Amino acid sequence: MAEDWDEPDDDATDPCPECGAQVYSDADQCPECGHWFVDGEAGGQSWSERQPRMLAWMGYAVVALIVLWIVVTML
Ligand SMILES: [Zn+2]
Repeated sequence: MAEDWDEPDDDATDPCPECGAQVYSDADQCPECGHWFVDGEAGGQSWSERQPRMLAWMGYAVVALIVLWIVVTML
């Protein structure tokens, strides 16, 4: 039946609301666009929980950009 395609039980993927990519239900974040999935929780609480993680990622990004910049200017 065609319905099996929409809800694959063994894979358990959900389409990302942001980019439409098939993402595993277990995943917290879309690997394609970085959209965070909030399961069963209202936005407010999980936002304060995930914010430090996002700040850490931004820190990594800034460090990576600085390293990249140094490498590029040295060449
Ligand atoms: Zn996405």
